[in-house]
Amino acid sequence: VNNTLCPLCNGKPELLFDGGRDYFVAGGRSADFEVWFCHSCKTGFTMPQMSDRELLEFYPDDYEAYAPKGGFAEYLQRMKYRQDLSMIKRQLDPSSGTTPSLFEIGTGRGEFLDAARKASFDVDGIEQSAKGVEFAEHSYGIKVRTGSASEFVFERKYDVVVLRHVLEHLNSFRECLENIRRNGLKEGGILFIKVPNMDSWEARFFGKYWDGYDLPRHRFHFTKNGLCRVLASTGFDGITAIYEVIPSAAARSISTCARFRKTGPVKYLAALFSTLPLPMQYPILQMCCLTLSCFGTGRLILISKANPLPKTSGGQRND
Ligand SMILES: [Zn+2]
Repeated sequence: VNNTLCPLCNGKPELLFDGGRDYFVAGGRSADFEVWFCHSCKTGFTMPQMSDRELLEFYPDDYEAYAPKGGFAEYLQRMKYRQDLSMIKRQLDPSSGTTPSLFEIGTGRGEFLDAARKASFDVDGIEQSAKGVEFAEHSYGIKVRTGSASEFVFERKYDVVVLRHVLEHLNSFRECLENIRRNGLKEGGILFIKVPNMDSWEARFFGKYWDGYDLPRHRFHFTKNGLCRVLASTGFDGITAIYEVIPSAAARSISTCARFRKTGPVKYLAALFSTLPLPMQYPILQMCCLTLSCFGTGRLILISKANPLPKTSGGQRND
């Protein structure tokens, strides 16, 4: 009997798959997880739901965000940061003349903030891993606060708030957006969000082996329509959506298929492809992903602006 309800809207969701595992950190040695999709609010979610405390054991110290990349992968990553930052810059008012302030939630090891500072932003942020905080200070001289995205207090308001690969990890992502709008962004400030896009051929083709599911660390799975609605209802507008092609993510999904699919031609093709060196895999995947991008790409960027806050007292209407 299906008693599962959507945790966002109480709608009746559809089971996409069961028997999903933690492939990326635990190497498939974990409990089974399910992914459901709610057609009413266009958002997916992981079951069973876990408390923040229960989920902590799925974040080892060498979780991807905290592990040094190095070499080719790091070079590509740095390029990506510069692209993200120029997208943000295009949305800012150049006539203001001041150095824009940027706050990142979930800074990892501080590489993005380092790139932002080089692109002349005033940078600040918060990160829950003590190891990440230490690395950022030691390697880049950037001091970020230790704390979790779901419960922290902004000390001032910023021109830009960045959420790269954060929202999908939070049970209370809606509250996080409300907090940013109310306390973290200036009026008209820019919110930059990057999440895996479950409305993509990659999610459909790789299924439970898709790197964007990253079970059970990803609690919600987003689509453009679903996330746009949440943004509109938490006071953001002027939304721009950008679809990203990430060959390294596709390469990870392929190698997970090769390792963990039981049998079948996809497993053997994936295994064959995975034997190629990464600098050969990436250009091939880049081409395939670009060709297939009309079926949705695995990453989604949403850039939006904070609406003015409604006046709550004094009888002054804000219109
Ligand atoms: Zn729903």
